[in-house]
Amino acid sequence: MDRITIIVPCYNEEEVIDMFYPAVREHVEKIPDCRFNYIFVNDGSHDGTLAKLKKISAAHDEVTYISLSRNFGKESAMMAGIDYADGDAVIIMDADLQHPPSSIAEMIKWWREGYDDVCAKRVDRAGETWLKRTCANLFYAVMKKFSTSYEIQRDVGDFRLLDRRCIEALKLMRENQRFTKGLFTWVGYHKKEIPFEVQPRAAGVTTWNYFSLFNLAMKGMTSYTTAPLRLMTFFGITISFGAMLYMIFVLTMALLYGDPVAGYPTLITVMLFLGGIQILSLGIIGEYIGQIFYESKHRPIYLVDEINGKKMIYASQFVPIEKITQPKKEFDSK
Ligand code: UDP
Ligand code: MG
Repeated sequence: MDRITIIVPCYNEEEVIDMFYPAVREHVEKIPDCRFNYIFVNDGSHDGTLAKLKKISAAHDEVTYISLSRNFGKESAMMAGIDYADGDAVIIMDADLQHPPSSIAEMIKWWREGYDDVCAKRVDRAGETWLKRTCANLFYAVMKKFSTSYEIQRDVGDFRLLDRRCIEALKLMRENQRFTKGLFTWVGYHKKEIPFEVQPRAAGVTTWNYFSLFNLAMKGMTSYTTAPLRLMTFFGITISFGAMLYMIFVLTMALLYGDPVAGYPTLITVMLFLGGIQILSLGIIGEYIGQIFYESKHRPIYLVDEINGKKMIYASQFVPIEKITQPKKEFDSK
């Protein structure tokens, strides 16, 4: 009998939570030789998500909820789930049913054939706007150019099955600025991509906007590769070399033909261009210093407020769930 833990990060998902659990259950019940348990991570929701999770977990023994002390972001919420997951494998899914539960059976099939990381790859980005698609393409193209040793997977999100080996490896990576897609790739092991179609959100609204996507892309780039720094050095060298050639040219012309005071357009162009490059370079360096700043604090990735009704303090945070929640029947629903 295989034990699979389904991890669901939830942020303001009160409208879909009630649909999610039965929908997933209906699919997984048909999978032979598997026992499922669920970890819902309430990522500091401001709506009725927590109350709904309390109800579901009180009614079903296999459901646990972990409520974080505030909103830490999806990357941190997933890590909380990963830290507590006790299954032989883990499946990470969004709460909004955009990730079809029907893919689970196929994931488990490939896992049983020996793959450690079965990722769902979206077959089309049709539901997305032209701008979002173009930005995504640009991001993947830049990442591909920059990363030398390992390549980020295209159109693959967090919807995936991970073997215990990957889970234990991910738990070693306690960095604060988490770009989980990059971490999944870094871990390696045997990967299998299966196609799926992103479903429309069952209800509620997405919390992502262009600004948060830009932030994620910047985080991804700066936590994944130092290639932009190298690129800046390259730019610097190229421009200095060009400037040197130009200087020789100007000097020669002045020696041959005298100095007819012209050259304002050249001057302003060169100045603006160099100014732009300098500000960009400073910005890039700043991004990396920002990363160092956050990492050097060594803060925990998330704080747990309660697990199945039991208040947690940080020191007790990493006790296995079954020790925390026994006996579940005495669930206190205050
Ligand atoms: N989510 C989260 N914390 C956040 C934002 C989102 O746990 O700060 C969860 C959210 O509840 C959902 C998943 O991450 O289960 C994906 O979020 P969403 O559907 O808003 O993003 P999209 O599917 O549009 O990329
Ligand atoms: Mg979604």
